[in-house]
Amino acid sequence: AKQQGKAGFVRYVDGLGEPVLAHMQLGGELRRALDNNEFRVVYQPIMRLDGSRLFGVEALVRWHHPSRGVVGPAEFIPAAERTGLIVPLGRFVLRETCRQAASWLAEFGPDALHEAGLNVSARQLHDPDFVADVAAALAESGLPCERLVLEVTESAVLRGQQVSRALYDLDRMGIRLALDDFGTGESSLSLLRAFPAAIVKLDKSFVDGIEIDDGHPAAAGARQAVARAVIQLAHALGLDTVAEGIESPEQVATLRELGYTLGQGFHLAHPMPAAEVSRLLAHQQSA
Ligand code: C2E
Ligand code: CA
Ligand code: CA
Ligand code: CA
Repeated sequence: AKQQGKAGFVRYVDGLGEPVLAHMQLGGELRRALDNNEFRVVYQPIMRLDGSRLFGVEALVRWHHPSRGVVGPAEFIPAAERTGLIVPLGRFVLRETCRQAASWLAEFGPDALHEAGLNVSARQLHDPDFVADVAAALAESGLPCERLVLEVTESAVLRGQQVSRALYDLDRMGIRLALDDFGTGESSLSLLRAFPAAIVKLDKSFVDGIEIDDGHPAAAGARQAVARAVIQLAHALGLDTVAEGIESPEQVATLRELGYTLGQGFHLAHPMPAAEVSRLLAHQQSA
């Protein structure tokens, strides 16, 4: 939850209402943390819903703070965006993810990992060097461009001319773009026409309670209707879909009935360090 404090200071508080980090001190701390290599990338598997083999991963950043322990992105990405530090931080995540994905492909072969995705903020898309940074990360790592997915949200895409230039340049380079948190914005549908998306990620809010037997059949019906509309639209436009935030086997069953083939969520796999993904890939290869 986000609370507006005195003098425009923004405090992020967790579910227990415990103050975590005040905005002003955060800018300087993030700079120091970046110089100190305190950021780590974890990877959440994107699984095939039939038989639970790994299809891809999404990179998610973590801050290993020397005294606070592991801090999640919700607590520092907004400040990183406001201060502009998201640009160097995002560049770190990009290079690390490309390097790691290329290393998995080299170790486990081209069928082990179809794609590696990462989140990109509006601020990064506005950075005139962004497209060149992506090209450099691919070249350095040797990761084929079609294996990289850049996840952007609707609100990021809707911000301006330079953003759409960058998105079209990336699309032309063969990089796949995913519309993240799909369905939560105000103009998801018209956006799909104007944006070179390859993938839509059905937001968790439509997956929550989608299973019909949760005691609220009407609410489940409405979510199913949205999920069904999204997959029909995606198929009509030739887009792939990923359902996000899957927390139960009942949700998997319902999503499969609706035609979803790929999903992500705590029921399938939590975000994990690269070494754990390696173990999963090794296990799958021997199975
Ligand atoms: P997102 O892109 O929508 O990523 C999915 C978030 O949902 C992740 O939270 C993930 O851990 C969580 N999640 C996955 N499955 C489940 C589930 O079954 N149940 C629940 N309750 N949650 C689930 P995380 O890692 O805390 O990231 C939060 C957000 O921070 C991300 O949302 C993304 O918008 C942003 N973020 C993370 N890493 C980066 C990054 O490197 N760059 C940028 N710009 N943003 C990032
Ligand atoms: Ca995402
Ligand atoms: Ca998402
Ligand atoms: Ca989200």
